[in-house]
Amino acid sequence: MKRKELVLQKIRETGFRLTPQRLAIVEYLIGNREHPSVEKIYSDLKPKYPMLSLSTVYNTVKVLKAIGEIQELTISEDRVYLEPNLQPHYHFLCLECGRIYDIWPEGEMLPTRINGHEVRQVQVYYYGVCANCQKKSKAAS
Ligand SMILES: [Zn+2]
Ligand SMILES: [Zn+2]
Repeated sequence: MKRKELVLQKIRETGFRLTPQRLAIVEYLIGNREHPSVEKIYSDLKPKYPMLSLSTVYNTVKVLKAIGEIQELTISEDRVYLEPNLQPHYHFLCLECGRIYDIWPEGEMLPTRINGHEVRQVQVYYYGVCANCQKKSKAAS
């Protein structure tokens, strides 16, 4: 079964009713690699779903979190970013453009045991200036 179908099934099992708007939010998030915030989801879906409210986005995200299908990134003090990619990886926040990059090389395994401890979740945040912004500032000077 595909991830999306699996997630939808899990949501139905909680008794949470999947209205078209909630379904759109789930579909927006699953497979999303951009680490959107609740506000971003809202502003992206609002044109297509004029009845959408911010609290609908919050509630749907809450359910996805409760069933363990998304995690929250506390990389920034300004807002919470959502992570639907559950493969362990590290993050890099660009202090210039605010973009969040996945920086753990694809396909490489993070350690599952460290000093006898069993690793279940990894949250590592790096901060700096991304390759894109470095190029831009070089071009400007
Ligand atoms: Zn940048
Ligand atoms: Zn990520």
